[in-house]
Amino acid sequence: MSQPLQAMTHRHVLAVPVVLAALTLVCLGREPALGRFTFTERHMGTQFQITLYAPSEAIAQEAARAAFARIAQLDGIMSDYRPTSELMQLCKKAGWGPVPISADLFDLLARSREISRLSGGAFDVTVGPVVRLWRRSRRTRRLPDPQELAQARQLVGYDKVRLNSAERTVQLTVEGMLLDLGAIAKGYAVEAALEVLRRYGVTRALVAASGDIAAGDPPPGARGWKVGIAPLDNPNAEPARFVLLSHAAVSTAGDTEQYVEIDGKRYSHIVDPHTGMGLTRRSSATVVARDGTTADGLDTAVSVLGPEKGLALVEATDGAALFYVARTDKGLETVVSKRFKHYEYQGK
Ligand code: ADP
Ligand code: MG
Repeated sequence: MSQPLQAMTHRHVLAVPVVLAALTLVCLGREPALGRFTFTERHMGTQFQITLYAPSEAIAQEAARAAFARIAQLDGIMSDYRPTSELMQLCKKAGWGPVPISADLFDLLARSREISRLSGGAFDVTVGPVVRLWRRSRRTRRLPDPQELAQARQLVGYDKVRLNSAERTVQLTVEGMLLDLGAIAKGYAVEAALEVLRRYGVTRALVAASGDIAAGDPPPGARGWKVGIAPLDNPNAEPARFVLLSHAAVSTAGDTEQYVEIDGKRYSHIVDPHTGMGLTRRSSATVVARDGTTADGLDTAVSVLGPEKGLALVEATDGAALFYVARTDKGLETVVSKRFKHYEYQGK
């Protein structure tokens, strides 16, 4: 019996200084001194980095641990590499009836469908069978076999996915369909991680998964988080442009990291769902949006659509902005959307 009593007394004693501290804060109208902490972990085949401000290292660690656990949970749901993931289990049932799925998977599929619709199918998570062939091409350095590619293309099309929100089920209507969330899952994960940090009282935070970044409240005394946009050709060079983010996300898609060169032509890991071909246009699309999922989905859509249609899509999306660079015969072509200036960092 003594244990619970002790615990209660302890909690009670603790509560007094907490209340006092809160009152002092209200009186002074100021935050307690916050320290800056950075944590990194590997998930989804990439390095995730969390930068946050917290009143103590213990709070920072606890919040970061919970955020990484959430990212790991999402990886377990969305991975197309692990046969045990919820996504892969679902794909095994392609051609069957509706399958009940988790709230996260349903949410992401619903948001993916919306981006597919808005982009006229330039972004489409049903590209899995085609992406698989191109992954093999990256290893063999040979173009996909035309017949195999034609077969794979038969399985692509977001209209082949039936979502039922009342029942929270999904039906993949054609046997052999394969979903690939690689173009959007990291954006969803950085956004979800930020949400977990917030629940721990940590609002001043930035979560980054290589090219996909989500920002919460700015660092103390700042207007936002300064994030550099990597140059098209040399991602390791000093960025020339920066955005200043708070309560927004930024994602960049390009061909600088993953591509295959065949007969002097460079094919990106991003494919055009309408043709089944890896993109050959050398471009880098940076999209700022209100949330990570939208930014990540749109950077891929814009890469496929190209500058004109891509710009129109971003301009039509609430709060979104685009910075796009492509290599053309005439040199670099840069397209900047109207809203971009609201996010661009103007200082030195
Ligand atoms: P990154 O992986 O560099 O963040 P993206 O966000 O553009 O870049 O995602 C690219 C990945 O998305 C590819 O590796 C592939 O798995 C998948 N993918 C390729 N083309 C498409 C497409 N048109 N629509 C949806 N997903 C795609
Ligand atoms: Mg993307």
